[in-house]
Amino acid sequence: MGEFDLIARYFARAGAEVSGSTVALGIGDDCAVLTPAPGHQWLVSTDMLVEGRHFLSTVSPRRLGHKALAVNLSDLAASGGTPRACFLSLALPRVDEAFLAGFSEGLFALADAHGVVLAGGDTTAGPLNINITIMGEVPTGQALLRSGARVDDDLWVSGTLGDARLALEVFRGHVSLPGEAFESVRHAMELPQPRVALGRALRGLATSAIDVSDGLAGDLGHILNRSGVGAQLHLADLPRSSILGAMPEDLQRLCLLTGGDDYELVFTASAQDRSRVLEAGRMSATPVYRIGRMESQPGLRVLDGQGRVLDLSLQSFDHFKS
Ligand code: ADP
Ligand code: MG
Repeated sequence: MGEFDLIARYFARAGAEVSGSTVALGIGDDCAVLTPAPGHQWLVSTDMLVEGRHFLSTVSPRRLGHKALAVNLSDLAASGGTPRACFLSLALPRVDEAFLAGFSEGLFALADAHGVVLAGGDTTAGPLNINITIMGEVPTGQALLRSGARVDDDLWVSGTLGDARLALEVFRGHVSLPGEAFESVRHAMELPQPRVALGRALRGLATSAIDVSDGLAGDLGHILNRSGVGAQLHLADLPRSSILGAMPEDLQRLCLLTGGDDYELVFTASAQDRSRVLEAGRMSATPVYRIGRMESQPGLRVLDGQGRVLDLSLQSFDHFKS
């Protein structure tokens, strides 16, 4: 199968362009043609997935197609955007039809759920490499940024943290879990659900936001740096699954604070807006939890049950590293 047949069979879908929609022209010409809504700005983000680094060879093609788009949608969610179009660049070692069928199925299922049109891309032979660029819209001036957190703002997080990292530790052979628990954390790692509806509901409400892709401590650090504030949070307040909650303390701490691949939103909002934030969570059917507050003292302080500041460089952090 040649490049063009492959694109036609797996990626070009009839009816992707609807008149009056953002994507005036999709796959098939030299460029896609997009029409922005009046009074809106484009949000554009791109993310690359490399085998061994961002996904394991054990993942099913369908889940890989889901995750490749999910990580991009998560960036858009963190900016408060409405997803519109995406572009897929694929390097494939060979034409593997079972892979392409599963991959495109997973990608389109998530794209359809969020109203995103695959509007173009590039296909080439090479080591497996997946890059997606996503475009979304936001009313002018309303994008959520990392830079707006203020002293005394509340600190919030959506969903639960740490399950994806727990799954990785199982794959690495550092932890073992019974079958059902493993399937559950593996689901979190391979099928993350981007918090797009929550991000939109937080427009004009959150003072800053980021999605957790590299671990809470690191990603929250970006908000602190860009906003010029510090934060404190209580370890016990971090939302976790009952599976992670049953693990040893040091493993929980590792997964919650440095886990990564969570694709939850971390955001700040004025303490006066607590009930509005809870309402945004309800409206978007996304659980949100208040985990701390912003302070003038720079840096992140994580407190244990006794209110003592934890040393995040503790030895116990390291023995799960591979
Ligand atoms: P060109 O040579 O002009 O760059 P290509 O031959 O690379 O065009 O692609 C032909 C069309 O197919 C273009 O519209 C391009 O956006 C689209 N396309 C190529 N690969 C993909 C892909 N993996 N997913 C979606 N669209 C693709
Ligand atoms: Mg091309």
